[in-house]
This record gives sequence, C-alpha cells and structure tokens, in this order.
Amino acid sequence: MKKIILTGDRPTGHLHVGHYVGSLQNRVRLQNSGDFDEIYFMIADSQALTDNAENPEKVRQNVLQVALDYLAVGIDPEKATIFIQSMVPALYELTAYYMDLVTVSRVQRNPTVKAEIQQKNFENSVPLGFFCYPVSQAADITAFHATHVPVGEDQEPMLEQCREIVRKFNSVYGETLTEPDIYLPPNKACYRLPGIDGKAKMSKSLGNCIYLSDDAETVKKKIMSMYTDPTHLQVSDPGHVEGNTVFTYLDAFSKPEHFAQFLPEYNNLDELKDHYRQGGLGDVKIKKFLNKVMETFLEPIRTRRRSWEEHPDDVYDILEAGSKQASQKVGETLAEVRRSMRINYFEDRSLLK
Ligand code: ATP
Ligand code: MG
Repeated sequence: MKKIILTGDRPTGHLHVGHYVGSLQNRVRLQNSGDFDEIYFMIADSQALTDNAENPEKVRQNVLQVALDYLAVGIDPEKATIFIQSMVPALYELTAYYMDLVTVSRVQRNPTVKAEIQQKNFENSVPLGFFCYPVSQAADITAFHATHVPVGEDQEPMLEQCREIVRKFNSVYGETLTEPDIYLPPNKACYRLPGIDGKAKMSKSLGNCIYLSDDAETVKKKIMSMYTDPTHLQVSDPGHVEGNTVFTYLDAFSKPEHFAQFLPEYNNLDELKDHYRQGGLGDVKIKKFLNKVMETFLEPIRTRRRSWEEHPDDVYDILEAGSKQASQKVGETLAEVRRSMRINYFEDRSLLK
C-alpha cells in the first residue's frame, strides 16, 4: 500500500510555535525522510470560513501567510503538494455523501467539537457548516487515501470519526476508502502546547500565541510575560514545575546541547527543574534561557520567511500548481467513490438489475 500524508491548517492567523512542535516539525521530518509516496498539505480556507463566514478577508489574507509559514519551516514544494481547500471543490461532493453516514448525535459527542463550541461561545448558534467540519475533514483525508495524518492531540477525535466513516462507507458500498492513522509528535510535551497565558492550548483564536513570524523583540517580550508559578513570589521560594508554562515549553523545545551552549551550570533539564523546586532559581533566568533556546529554531525560520515574502508571485504559483495537482488526485478518488456507490450513471450503462 502507498504511504500518503495529508494534513493542514486553518488560515485564521499566522502559524505559531504550537503548530511547529505539534505538526510542522513532524511534517518536515517525514517529508525529508523519503519514506512517503505522496505528501499533501492543505490550507483549509473553507474550514476556516465555518466560523469566520463574516470575515472572508481575514481568511483570504491568511492563506498567503500560512503558505509563507510552510515554506519558512522547510516544507518543500518539490517534495510536497501545497494546496487551497476551496480550490478543490470535489472535496465538497465527498463531504455530502459522507454526511449521510453520520448522525447528528455522533458529531455532538465529538469532544473537540464540544470544546470548540464552548470556546467560541456558540451555545445555540452553531453554524451548520462548523458543526459538520469533522465530516468535511474526513473527506479531506480520505480523498487522498491518506495513511498518515501528522497533527496535534486535539485532532485525535477527528481521526477517530474519520476512521468510523471509512469503515461505514466500506461496509455499505464495498472496500474503497483507506483508514488513516494519526501521527503525533515524538515528545508528549508537544501534543498540545499551552498558550503563553498558561491556558490549555495555544490557539490563533485565543490570542495567546508566539508566532513563527514574530520578530526577536516580540518573542522576548512574550516569553518575559509568560505565566509561571503564582506561588513562586521570591527567588528563594520553592517553585512548581508542573503546570508552569516555561517548563512545559522547555520540555517541548530544549535539547541537551542547549545547556552546554547557554546555561552550562546545569547539565540537563532535570537538574534545572530540581533547583527550581528547591527554591533559589528566579523566573527571569529560566525565561532568558527559554528565549535563547527558542531563537535557535525561530531565527532560521524568520530568515527563510523574509526571502519568500519578497516573491509573493512564486508563492501563488506554488499554490496554484498544488491545487491543480490535488484536484486531479481527488477527482480520481471521487470516481472510485461514485463507482462504489453505483452513482456512476454514464460510466456504466448496465445499471438495471
Ligand atoms: P484555530 O484557533 O483557528 O482553530 P489553531 O491554532 O487551533 O487555530 P489549527 O489550524 O486548528 O490551529 O491547527 C492546525 C494543526 O496544528 C493541527 O494539527 C493541530 O492539532 C495543531 N495544533 C494547533 N494548536 C496546537 C498546539 N497548541 N499544540 C500542538 N499542536 C497544535
Ligand atoms: Mg484549531
């Protein structure tokens, strides 16, 4: 069986360091491993419109920003197809057929949908398109016969729902679709990076992000304002490491060699944590260290981004070519789906039984 990657991002803002550790880093690694037959990265503009219908300009602007972020982190258009969701309208046809296989109550039970409805204060005014996005996400994944979906942990319920749809489709219409596997980051601290405010998830919609495109000064300010341990008032006070955002970030971003490079009085993160727990280690010192650690990967991303920003036409060309290529692939899957569902009327004229 072919090994195929599909994943994507909503163009609701610039991409942030949560995206980097949760998904982008994995994507670049998988892309460069040479182990995959096909790789697709989707800018999910129509999914972004499900909760931004009144703000299409925001979505439009961010399509280019997300593309720039992709190229800046090292996604290579020679190795991966980058495309815009709404430029592949066959995805909607698939979504429509899958909707017939899913109940309203099943979507209502989806924990990510539940959490996002609450987070967005939708209460009784959930847009229908938003409610159905797990189904459209299943269409996006299966349209490419994706086997590997590198995403953050918040997407686990989406993948589960997608697999259910695949099983249901295949049992009703015959073996057609491929069940995908979630591909989580190698380090648990990266599954769901908290915001700088200590809230459960760094999220474009919550305004608690460090963006990949932030300049060095902004990143420093954000790190210096980060939520730590409210009981650690004086440097001499014993501190808590669990639930302390700076330490969660160090779990996600620091590597053993960073200690020799930037903080040689400690051999590793465990030693730093022990000292913080005992007392005598100030927040400013660990924040400065975190800042240096983060700059090691942010600076090269910034530099690459600037060089692409000077050639927006090239970025548009990449998106256009990618969308064409993606449309072709989805067209093939849709033909298989229609054949399985026996709604391929003009392809097979012997339909009467
Ligand atoms: P929005 O607030 O518009 O939903 P978002 O910040 O949640 O934006 P998405 O575009 O929904 O970003 O997510 C894109 C990918 O990044 C998904 O695979 C998601 O799992 C991953 N991701 C998003 N936020 C984080 C995070 N804080 N930690 C780890 N992974 C994340
Ligand atoms: Mg999200």
